[in-house]
Amino acid sequence: MEYLSEINEWRAYANDQRARGRRVGLVPTMGALHGGHASLFRAARAHGDVVLATIFVNPRQFNDSADLAQYPRTPGYDREMAQRNGVDCLIEPTLATMWPDYPAPTPTTVSVHGLGDVLEGAGRPGHFDGVASVVAKLISVTGPCRAYFGEKDFQQVAVVRQMVRDLAMDVEVVGCPIVRDEDGLALSSRNVLLSRAGRRRALALSRALTLVQSQPATASAQRERLRETLDAAGVVTAYAEVVDPVTLEPSTDDETGPRRAMVAGLIEDVRLIDNGPVTLAPRRS
Ligand code: AMP
Repeated sequence: MEYLSEINEWRAYANDQRARGRRVGLVPTMGALHGGHASLFRAARAHGDVVLATIFVNPRQFNDSADLAQYPRTPGYDREMAQRNGVDCLIEPTLATMWPDYPAPTPTTVSVHGLGDVLEGAGRPGHFDGVASVVAKLISVTGPCRAYFGEKDFQQVAVVRQMVRDLAMDVEVVGCPIVRDEDGLALSSRNVLLSRAGRRRALALSRALTLVQSQPATASAQRERLRETLDAAGVVTAYAEVVDPVTLEPSTDDETGPRRAMVAGLIEDVRLIDNGPVTLAPRRS
C-alpha cells in the first residue's frame, strides 16, 4: 500500500492509474476506521477499482469545536486496517494542504441548498457546506472516479449526488449499505466515546427503526413510534423523521409506499445518527 499526503503526488497517482486503464475508486473517510469503512474499501475492490482512501478529519464540517476536539483518531490502526482491506493508496492530507487559510474561512464554499439545510443540516448549521466543499476538493484532486459513500450517512449521499449532478463532476457515486454490530448498532467512529451504559442506550436508534419497519403505518404514526422509542431509552432526540428518500421532504399521512426513516440523537453528549427503509400504509378509516 502506498502512503501519500501531497496533492501533486496524489493527483499524479490517480492520473497514472487511469493511464494504465484502471478505474479509480475513491473512499473519503475521517479515519478511526471500522467495519463500515472496510465495507466501502471492499466494495471498491469488488468493482475492480484501484482503491484510494483518504483520511482527513475535516474541521469545516464540525459546527461544534468540542465535537472536533474529541473526534477519535487512530492513525496506526487505520493504516493496518486499510492495508488489510485492500486499499492500494492511503492519502492523509494535512490541514494546511486541504485548507491553507484555516482557521480563517476558506473563501470558496460548495453549498447544496435544500438537501443540505434539513435534518442534520438544520441541527448542525454549515455541516453540509463543509462536507460538500471537502468532497468537491477530494474529487477535484482525484479526477474522474467512482466515489463510495455509506448509507449510514444517508443525507450525505443525497447531498453529494446533487452536487455531482449540478457541477457535472465526472464521478459515479456508489451508495453502500449500513454495517451494524451484531446487536444492531450502526458502526460509527463515535461509538467508542460511549460508556457501556451509553452504548446500551444507543441501541434505541436501531430498535426504533426495526419497530417501524415491522409495522407499516402512516408517516405521523411512524414518527411517533420512533420518538417514543428514543424517549423511553433516554436519548435526547434531535429528529425522528420519515422522509422521501430522494428529496428528503417529510412525508405526509396521505402518502403510501417506501420512504426513509431518519433518526438522530445525543447520548452522553455524543451525536449518533441512523436510518432505514420504511413502508407507509394508508390511514385506517
Ligand atoms: P466517516 O469516517 O464517518 O466520515 O465515514 C466515511 C464513510 O464511511 C462515509 O461514506 C460513511 O457513510 C461511511 N460509513 C461510516 N459508518 C458506516 C457504516 N456503519 N456502514 C456503512 N458505511 C459507513
